[in-house]
Amino acid sequence: MKIQSKLPNTKTSIFAVMSGLANECGAINLSQGFPNFPISENLASLVNENMIKGNNQYAPMPGILPLREAISEKLNRTYGVSFNPETEITITPGATHGLNTIITAMISKGDEVIIFEPAYDSYVPSIELCGGIVKPINLVAPTYHINWEEVERTISNKTKMIIMNTPHNPTGAVLRENDMKELIRLTLNTDIIVLSDEVYEHLIFDGIRHESILYYPELIERSFVTASFGKTFHTTGWKMGYVVSPKELMDEYRKVHQFSVFTCNTPMQWAFAAFLKDPNNYDYLPMFYQEKRDFMIDALQGSRFNILDCKGTYFMLLDYSKITDENEMDFAVRLTKEYGVATVPVSPFYSSPIDNKTLRICFAKTNETLLGAAEILKRI
Ligand code: PMP
Ligand code: GLN
Repeated sequence: MKIQSKLPNTKTSIFAVMSGLANECGAINLSQGFPNFPISENLASLVNENMIKGNNQYAPMPGILPLREAISEKLNRTYGVSFNPETEITITPGATHGLNTIITAMISKGDEVIIFEPAYDSYVPSIELCGGIVKPINLVAPTYHINWEEVERTISNKTKMIIMNTPHNPTGAVLRENDMKELIRLTLNTDIIVLSDEVYEHLIFDGIRHESILYYPELIERSFVTASFGKTFHTTGWKMGYVVSPKELMDEYRKVHQFSVFTCNTPMQWAFAAFLKDPNNYDYLPMFYQEKRDFMIDALQGSRFNILDCKGTYFMLLDYSKITDENEMDFAVRLTKEYGVATVPVSPFYSSPIDNKTLRICFAKTNETLLGAAEILKRI
């Protein structure tokens, strides 16, 4: 039988590859982005209580209303916006699924989608599965800022969507107010949809404000925003998040959502509905992760890796050009196998063959793990 691949150029996700190699080699795993410390006991108990109570059957298609109401209140408190929980918020099984559903609902054959590379690895395949055409723009290394003149030159009458991501995976860069103004200028009076991936909204440092789309009414009207409870509550394995957008866009979103997943697991929705009500459960995050970032920077003092500026997310980039001229993939594999530290090469986040001699590490780890990894990295 001849199988015609819909994604002939797509390989296994680099996160699966590097985490798999880390497990195989017993290496310290700083590759895939997930915390290795415990979650809130209160949150775990809430799930358990809801299971015992009998909240175990299908939730409504867009998610249970109390959770959507809690999200609406949180958005109001955080960004001063008003989203209707009935019609403008949908609970998703993780942000990856939300991103894919948005793209599926919006992108048709021949539509152009602008993305900024290095880019989170799910964007390109999701676009290609819809017959969309990816228009990648490289962020300008080593600060990884957006060249807005290039964006202006890339926009055409086929541009259907621009995908933004701040704080940015894998670089740790964040957008500033000026970027948002440029985005407004370039999209005003167009039919361009903005997909804003804000899964790291609370992981932002040095007192910088997270530039959410939700601060800008001119952008809200054309935007979907994705969020992930996995990132915010250290529960990546639960695969839960949500999407917000104006009703007209959400109507289209739900047409796809109802047939790709229908709804998400019920006891966790009830648990998050209660947990989200207390802002203390997320207000501490910027300082918590800033301390981890600074701890890792200190621990790496004296190493030959050059640490690039990290303003958000729980990732930072290490430039290894003083150590070797091996390509990123080869060096990342060798580091895992020979030294026992797994990282992620940045090159797979590009569609063009770019090798900046940088590796991404995840610092959402206990200080003990970070210290152990830093000791090894310093010897290289
Ligand atoms: N977007 C970005 C930028 C990410 O780093 C991730 C990975 N966590 C996701 C989306 C997907 O999040 P989730 O695990 O909720 O699917
Ligand atoms: N977002 C996580 C990362 O960047 C991993 C997500 C995944 O494994 N698909 O490492």
